[in-house]
Amino acid sequence: MSGFLAIVGRPNVGKSTLYNRLVGARDAIVDDQSGVTRDRHYGLADWNGLEFTVIDTGGYVEKSDDVFEKEIKKQVLIALQEADVIILMCDVRTGITDQDQTFVDVLRGVNKPILVAANKADNHNLSFQSAEFYNFGFPEVFPLSSVSGSGTGELLDRVVELLNENGKSATVTIDESLPKFCVIGKPNVGKSTFINALLGEDRNIVADIPGTTRDANHTLYNKFGKTFYLIDTAGIRKKTNVHEDIEFYSVMRAIRALEYSDIAYVMVDVNEGLSSQDLNIISLALNRKKGLVILINKWDKMEKETNTMRDYAELLRAKMAPFTDVPIIFISALEKTRILQALDKGIEVYENMNRRIGTAELNEWLAETMKKHEVPSYGGRHIKIKYMTQLPTKTPVFAFFCNMPSMVKDSYRRYLENELRKSYNFEGVPVKFAFKKK
Ligand code: GDP
Ligand code: GDP
Repeated sequence: MSGFLAIVGRPNVGKSTLYNRLVGARDAIVDDQSGVTRDRHYGLADWNGLEFTVIDTGGYVEKSDDVFEKEIKKQVLIALQEADVIILMCDVRTGITDQDQTFVDVLRGVNKPILVAANKADNHNLSFQSAEFYNFGFPEVFPLSSVSGSGTGELLDRVVELLNENGKSATVTIDESLPKFCVIGKPNVGKSTFINALLGEDRNIVADIPGTTRDANHTLYNKFGKTFYLIDTAGIRKKTNVHEDIEFYSVMRAIRALEYSDIAYVMVDVNEGLSSQDLNIISLALNRKKGLVILINKWDKMEKETNTMRDYAELLRAKMAPFTDVPIIFISALEKTRILQALDKGIEVYENMNRRIGTAELNEWLAETMKKHEVPSYGGRHIKIKYMTQLPTKTPVFAFFCNMPSMVKDSYRRYLENELRKSYNFEGVPVKFAFKKK
């Protein structure tokens, strides 16, 4: 489990600049893979080996005064509901403004770590001026320059420290050997109907009031002879507060739920097909190395002909390429069709995720696979993969040791992965291949 860092503050203080510094390059890679829209303001960052999600709350509305209040409300809501650590960003060049003060007033009641980033402290003199921000009453003020990067290391060290502390306290009571599922997807696709169908009871829906639904809830279930945790994303279901940003909130909730899950059921409405928003949610799960089951819901509303299911699944897989080894199940949450199959599949994917293959067996497999199709040479030089092994990681990582690791072409890596998936069941599981020099 990692965590969730929110950067809040009035317009123009430099939130996006810091955000880009933290996740910019990595985010771009993510986008290339999935072909989704570019205007994303959340992404993965890592610092000192800890990977966490960063949200730039500022990028969503136009920067003019009349929307300021709405923006504050939104940012603070996100901070309240989703963040583990909050960075309140200010500008040392302007000093404290009324708008900063508004943020401080709403954040004061929040029972989460708040770090003040005194940005644009590009030189020593400006750094000194950051002392002014202690007047907010928050004990930790960090002078920094998002543009040059100076001071950002100190801030991030502290962020990671806080996220680690948070992680420890959040996981104590969880039995790590049991699968943790979440159900994510766009609004109205049928997530809560599915959960209710699965659990066979109308569950308590927690009101989405700031401060009351902060943490993802782990609820232990024993249904149909299976034991699993369901990560509660109750907030998705009660949408009264923030009509204008339902999609955005569902993404935030998805990120939050994913933090705590092993396996994500991504639910799609059959009538809408696979939209870029769905792909976006799928790539969130994959980038966080979660197992995946796609549920195509509302199948009852579909006009069925022979092969409909197969054709539909094929179309979906084409859109999801290159990661196509994913179970797709057609369900009707309303009519409770194939609900059990969905649960079984989730458990199977969890087993796949925990699959460990011995080194001797793997190397026999590797020899066979390379015999069928040799590693293409590079510039007349022979590329040799000497051996491979599965690393002891939570999700499968395979290390290949070879003479010129960087010269192994992507097409060959894909070949190896496809062959591995043919030989061993890793359905629904993102696997990673690492090529190392030996
Ligand atoms: P946001 O509205 O809070 O997301 O602010 P932006 O990240 O868009 O930054 C607003 C302006 O401040 C841009 O022109 C940035 O280049 C500038 N800026 C951001 N960080 C720094 C910094 O550390 N030093 C200086 N001098 N300018 C900065
Ligand atoms: P959520 O926002 O993803 O949690 O979606 P809900 O579970 O609240 O469902 C949204 C709407 O879709 C409700 O009106 C449900 O009754 C309807 N719905 C959910 N599942 C199905 C289904 O399998 N078939 C049909 N026809 N409607 C469904």
